[in-house]
Amino acid sequence: MERLTHGPTVKAPAERFTGDAWIDVISPGARPPFVRANLVRFAPGARTAWHRHTRGQTLHVLAGIGLVQTRGEEINVLRPGDTVRTGPGEWHWHGAAPTHFMVHLGLLEGGAPDGEPDTEWAGHVTDSEYDPPPAEA
Ligand code: MN
Repeated sequence: MERLTHGPTVKAPAERFTGDAWIDVISPGARPPFVRANLVRFAPGARTAWHRHTRGQTLHVLAGIGLVQTRGEEINVLRPGDTVRTGPGEWHWHGAAPTHFMVHLGLLEGGAPDGEPDTEWAGHVTDSEYDPPPAEA
């Protein structure tokens, strides 16, 4: 067994997130199978920008109420215990509901040994795009 040490909690960068979100790298994915695990805490209303992952990503919600959307599809509500996976190249965003924090573990596949980018980022999710189902507003 090996106890992994963690660096400090870091604030999610403003160019890639709206609102306040904080990230802990639980596992850097430096060795096979190269899965990086990030614990991310989103304040109410905070969300990622639109992005896609080269290999794919699994999100597991630990607390709060979350939202996730694939481009062209409906916004989905996530609750503790829910797990979703976005496939390779699927444009999406994820974040907290407007009035609730959300904490998820993000398992990012393919922090590959050749250093290929694991994520491509695009524009912020606008307030009009961030339009959760009425029960979550
Ligand atoms: Mn993602």
